[in-house]
Amino acid sequence: MKVVLIGSGGSAISPDRSLPAILVDDDVLFDCGEGTTQSLLRRMGSLNSLKLVFITHLHGDHVSGLISLIWAMWLRERRTEPITFIGPEKTKDAVMTLLRTVNTPLDEVTVPLEFKEITPGSSYNGVVWTAQSTHSPTCIAYRFERDSVSFCYTGDTAPSKAIAKLATSCKLLIHDSAFPEELAEKAKKSNHSTSVDAARIAKEAGVDILVLFHWSNVNEGKEQQLVNQAKKVFTKQVILARDGLEIGL
Ligand SMILES: [Zn+2]
Ligand SMILES: [Zn+2]
Repeated sequence: MKVVLIGSGGSAISPDRSLPAILVDDDVLFDCGEGTTQSLLRRMGSLNSLKLVFITHLHGDHVSGLISLIWAMWLRERRTEPITFIGPEKTKDAVMTLLRTVNTPLDEVTVPLEFKEITPGSSYNGVVWTAQSTHSPTCIAYRFERDSVSFCYTGDTAPSKAIAKLATSCKLLIHDSAFPEELAEKAKKSNHSTSVDAARIAKEAGVDILVLFHWSNVNEGKEQQLVNQAKKVFTKQVILARDGLEIGL
């Protein structure tokens, strides 16, 4: 399995990081923040291989790339193969509202848009298992499995026992790490995690690799410090997410 961090930032886009998006084996995408479509086109040349898009939650930084993704599939590629969006309740309404708001002529869009709304805790097609993240609005953490290898992506979350359980024995955990430890109170209040929180969950779950993800502007300049803080708690491999980073599992 090849996992590519397409967008490694979070909250606000920065010169170095676009917003959350994770590509798996060129056919599955998790979240679609601003910057995703162009990165995918640069990497793959086309969006035709994309089949499933899993959305963690309906915050702007996780869905702000969906309009350009759908417009590129339609106008650039004239795609007629369906694409399926899986996400929490109201995902369909949110995506369709986004498209209507920007005056998308829906009867001319060539690509069939399919939606499957799921509740946290459920699974989808034997491909993903989920848990509820500690975040608002409702956010789904995903465990994805293919060829007996699995990884877990938390979406946005405060430290969560449910996620530790979901990620048990995964090879890789991609965890919210939006704040440094000295802003732990702020992280808790906004339902995000510090790198130490992420490390504690990685340790509890017994994963092999932890990726510190959803890197926000308050972390800028503190990269090594946050990695070191995490390594004190989680002694296996800790990786700081960056755009374009490929992880082979
Ligand atoms: Zn976010
Ligand atoms: Zn969020």
